[in-house]
Amino acid sequence: MATGAAEINQCPPGGALGVQRLAEITGKPVLALNPIHGSEGPRAVAVIDEDWCIGCTLCLDACPTDAILGGNKVMHTVMEACCTGCELCIPVCPVDCISLENVSGERTGWLAWSQADADMALSRYEIHSLRRTSSAPSKPETPAISGSAGLASPAAGPASASAVADKKRAVIAAALASARAARQSKP
Ligand code: SF4
Ligand code: SF4
Repeated sequence: MATGAAEINQCPPGGALGVQRLAEITGKPVLALNPIHGSEGPRAVAVIDEDWCIGCTLCLDACPTDAILGGNKVMHTVMEACCTGCELCIPVCPVDCISLENVSGERTGWLAWSQADADMALSRYEIHSLRRTSSAPSKPETPAISGSAGLASPAAGPASASAVADKKRAVIAAALASARAARQSKP
């Protein structure tokens, strides 16, 4: 926006009121929210079904605000106050045990967020980015996985190779469990 490369209507979390506020600041005309970037909705947070979590840590790597707590082969949980509902953890979970829960009721867009929520999200994201940047030379970005293909880590050393092997085993075990459950649920 500052360079004129982006319009003021590309932020679903801010919603219509966010666009209006940006119009006031920039002097640009109010536009309808651009649906390409999503639609206005309530504030949501991720919830992990702990009965299904296999502790693969993939969601932990994907979270931009470090809102997920857990360890290898240990059940994970989401710290609600730190979750922005960005959904980045959902597609990486191999057992589909993460869902979103509405925490703002009827309030949507700008009104769904308190200033404290927004400040918390920003500071957690900045700390996360700083940590990522400082470890960037030795740590490749965690790829989004599709099946087991995304688990390969070419630059990994012995310790991370073992972590990748653990993740592969966890994904395979999850797939087997899922297939078993599907089989059992058939009449
Ligand atoms: S929805 Fe986003 S912020 Fe919340 S736990 Fe998942 S990745 Fe983290
Ligand atoms: S990606 Fe899913 S299974 Fe893996 S640790 Fe996160 S919630 Fe648990």
